[in-house]
Amino acid sequence: MEQHLPNLKSLEGVGDMNRLVIAFCFTIFLVFLFQSPFIRFVYAQENGSYGILIKTYFKDDYRQMLISVKKPNYEGVKLSEVTITKNDTEILKLQCNQCSLITTPWFKVIKGEPYLIKVKTVNGIVITNVFYSSEHVIESLPLDCWLGNEYNENYNEYLSVFETAYNKLIEIIGYEIAEKGVTMNRVPWSAAWAGDGFFVYGISKDFHELVIKNKLYLPGRSAVYNDPEYGEVVIDTKLVLDTRFHELAHVVVDPYPSYLEESFACFFEIELFRLLGYEEEYVTAAGDNIDRYITYVGDDYEKTAPYIKGELGWPGPWIGAYIIEDFIGYGEYEDRILDYISSLGYTEYPEFVNDMGWDFLTKYFNYLRTVEHPDEYNDDQILHYYFSLAADRDLSSVFEIWGFETILPDVYSFVKGMDNGIYFNSYWTPSPSWKGWERLARGATASGIAAIRHEGKIYLVVRGLNNRLYYGELEEDTGRFTGWVHLGGVTLSKPAITIDKSLGYMWIVVRGMDNGIYIKKRILSTGIWTNWIKLPGATSEAPATAALNGKLFIAVKGASDNSIWFGVYFEEVDNFGGWVKVSGATPSAPDLAIDHSGYVYLAVRGMDNKIYYNQFNGVNWLGWKRIPTGSTIQGPAILFDDENNFHIMVTSSSGDGSIYHCYRDVATGTWTPWSKLSGKTPSEPELT
Ligand SMILES: [Zn+2]
Repeated sequence: MEQHLPNLKSLEGVGDMNRLVIAFCFTIFLVFLFQSPFIRFVYAQENGSYGILIKTYFKDDYRQMLISVKKPNYEGVKLSEVTITKNDTEILKLQCNQCSLITTPWFKVIKGEPYLIKVKTVNGIVITNVFYSSEHVIESLPLDCWLGNEYNENYNEYLSVFETAYNKLIEIIGYEIAEKGVTMNRVPWSAAWAGDGFFVYGISKDFHELVIKNKLYLPGRSAVYNDPEYGEVVIDTKLVLDTRFHELAHVVVDPYPSYLEESFACFFEIELFRLLGYEEEYVTAAGDNIDRYITYVGDDYEKTAPYIKGELGWPGPWIGAYIIEDFIGYGEYEDRILDYISSLGYTEYPEFVNDMGWDFLTKYFNYLRTVEHPDEYNDDQILHYYFSLAADRDLSSVFEIWGFETILPDVYSFVKGMDNGIYFNSYWTPSPSWKGWERLARGATASGIAAIRHEGKIYLVVRGLNNRLYYGELEEDTGRFTGWVHLGGVTLSKPAITIDKSLGYMWIVVRGMDNGIYIKKRILSTGIWTNWIKLPGATSEAPATAALNGKLFIAVKGASDNSIWFGVYFEEVDNFGGWVKVSGATPSAPDLAIDHSGYVYLAVRGMDNKIYYNQFNGVNWLGWKRIPTGSTIQGPAILFDDENNFHIMVTSSSGDGSIYHCYRDVATGTWTPWSKLSGKTPSEPELT
């Protein structure tokens, strides 16, 4: 083909003729169309250039077009007439008066054949474009850029690449865009941008750079042009891909949060090369991406988020493209990328997530469309939310490393480790996974841990190895721990802790050395602790407590039998209402929690080791219900999270200390299957 390409040096000086060429283009069109092609590529003069912009709707062989005319500053020009022809046959002629946009009726096209769109503006300018149509893509280019009928095959091969790219993107996002296709508009000035259903890419002196970048495309169809300014330039019939892939992604892919859109466009600019089988280009470009990450972010990973959001300037979108790439994984290219990295002098590169493959993105776009995020989330948290859903695990640790504001967990669990250490874990409901156990830097305990979460802090009470009670506070977002202070008093069991938000009181309830039941209050606003108050009655196990609107609820197992007792302490008048026996029996410590309707839930291990709960409506107990599956040989832990999901955690009935969790989904009313956490505990767990 090379010998058919023109001497491109003839381009010099042609640009000045641009207006003239445009004005006469239609008159010469028929000659142009049927004679051997004369390459008429011109550098457009910015001020004199007009571009026809088209957005197309696709339906089988039919197309509907929205046609407008713009100047380089993207200012619209009024139209008076639009004509569409194929060969010399007029297909459509539309008159209008001072229109900025003309909508054609649906008309039938023959795919792969050139059509001519001639537009007249109210100021007397006539502009002509050629367009080719494939199944989901239209290429529309100024007549002056068209190579002629002889190159139909090239244009159609080029379109078929875009057709494949478009279909790949649709496959990945999992739904068809509204227009059912994309229009590529080539404009006679330097530009690249995308709108709904169309994108624009321009011609300018910068064009050379794009050509060189993609010279591997359409091998064997290139010509060499010696540019006085740029030197040897390889021209592949002016059909280049990277900008087009980038803009195509902008049209098709609609990510959230919006600061990721540019990153997705950069990501697909590379990945479409790989997906379409142009590995060389992909590997080179992907290598560049890692290089950018290493150069700009380096070991200071917290710069990732500010870069992506554009707060640190260039190359923000490419940093985002890198992290998206990290989710996809490098697979077969990894070795070559590592070679590339080592050629840059690096021995390692950051990889934050396991290879989740392309399914990750498909799931992400599916969740974006089908699952509403909670209203109160900001952009960072929305990103964390949807990416975690797609990854099927909580990504808070990696998002924290990258400097994003993450979502606090829905649930924390605290357990005594097999080494008596104090361990905690966190759980995030939409992406059901536990983050992993972390040991609190200090302390050891003889029993399970008491924990209550309140306004960004987790308040903890434990029974020390010497039976003394210790109190500490853990900050949720920073993980900072105050250390332990002696609370006064001793206990034989796991303590209980709760907060009455209405009064700002924290309550500690313990089983004393005499099996008596003791309570102690802290006023949160002043930090003042009251002395221990002994309640009537006794217990042989850890007590349970919960508080709401001035009432402190306490449940205990009987001291000498398996009976279950419940009492209310009226906080404002410091008066205990006495114990009431609840039907049923348990061999272990009970637990209490309050749901969003104010019902008090009491959960126990039954005499058959099954797990039961009862609801108190303020007057009566509504009767025991069994959790459908599961059993345990210790007291269960229960909690209602912010969404009112009902969580239960137990240790295994086999006695090996394995830890299990499930919850009743508030939306469906169904229980999730039990999931086994890592690790083991010898004591009853705690949820908060
Ligand atoms: Zn872009």
